Amino acid sequence: MSSKIRRRRGILFVISSPSGAGKTTLSNRLRHTHDDLTLSISATTRAPRKGEVDGVDYQFISKHEFERRRDNGYFYEWALVHGNYYGTPKAPVLEILRDGQDVLLDIDWQGAQQMLQERDHDVVSVFILPPSMDELERRLRTRASDADDVIAQRLDGGVKEITHWLEYDYVLVNDDVDKTAAAVDVILRAERLKRFRQPWLTGFVNDLLVDTDA
Ligand code: 5GP
Repeated sequence: MSSKIRRRRGILFVISSPSGAGKTTLSNRLRHTHDDLTLSISATTRAPRKGEVDGVDYQFISKHEFERRRDNGYFYEWALVHGNYYGTPKAPVLEILRDGQDVLLDIDWQGAQQMLQERDHDVVSVFILPPSMDELERRLRTRASDADDVIAQRLDGGVKEITHWLEYDYVLVNDDVDKTAAAVDVILRAERLKRFRQPWLTGFVNDLLVDTDA
């Protein structure tokens, strides 16, 4: 009996936040702890930042190519964020879920809504809030990879993003990155243990009870 495969339902673990609230650091920490959690690599029409690698951070593609793929149903969800297109390729996500593994999605509120419409029960969503708007601005400026007008646009977008906080399962204030990372880790571990994500339990319990009868 113990040799039977205990296959879980995979989770779509969505993390959203305003730019600069620490989402990328938290995603990296989580992936470091869980090597069975796969980051979905989005496609975007935004230009690469210094140090970003095509195919690792994003698939950097042209607007024309993005629209072509979008119209062919290539994306699970897509959105216009800060004036650029971003989208989650569908096929790799479905493949990971089919294997009973989890996918990490670093997407905005528009993407989170679309994923909920597609696969309500498989989505676990976490929203990361900055401790203050001043701190958010400071973090955006110290990142120093964006020009002033881009930073202003991201702050504006951040305010809009924050208004969607109620749509998320979990909301964390990131005033201490270690504590926030620990909280995100606990959320993933607990969500994995939910009964409905472990369909193998039905057969397991039935077998237990049969053994009892005998
Ligand atoms: P950045 O340009 O700073 O890498 O990302 C800007 C915003 O776009 C972030 O809030 C990020 O979560 C969001 N984003 C990145 N990839 C996707 C995606 O595939 N879909 C959606 N809807 N948003 C994305």
